Amino acid sequence: MVSNQAIRADDTGSTLPKTTMAVLKLLHGHLGPYVSLGGRMGDYAVEKLGLKRHGLKEQSDVRVIVECEPNPPKSCLVDGLQASTGATYGKRNIFLIDSKTVRVRVINTETKKGLEFKLSERLQENIKKWFAEKVSLEKQSETIMSSNPQDLFIIKEFSDD
Ligand SMILES: [Zn+2]
Repeated sequence: MVSNQAIRADDTGSTLPKTTMAVLKLLHGHLGPYVSLGGRMGDYAVEKLGLKRHGLKEQSDVRVIVECEPNPPKSCLVDGLQASTGATYGKRNIFLIDSKTVRVRVINTETKKGLEFKLSERLQENIKKWFAEKVSLEKQSETIMSSNPQDLFIIKEFSDD
């Protein structure tokens, strides 16, 4: 599953591939829009916030707060975010809060800088359309993995002081 493509080193010396559909499928068991969106949010945040992801430290520098309906398909976001940010259920640094609307916050706990993600109107329309037209989950994932983050999300920076 680890290809030589898109491997990057972070400042702890650990190397990991950017989140791929193969990685998402390995963790989550299937593909779909929400696990893929979690992957894209996390990759974007890792880059922008300078997160170490799976650094050598026991306690990593990331905290992720996911607000959404607490059931699949929406909660599949959590697995995409675990794969991409390195925040995990076991490390207790990813949280799911029951909410009607999707909002995800990724925070660098060292710099206190964070990014907030909401789903763009256009993306929400597309997801409805894909489900209505029975577009395959694989194809939905592919589309999301190859879209610009700005087309998928409304992204805001914030400070967690
Ligand atoms: Zn799922």
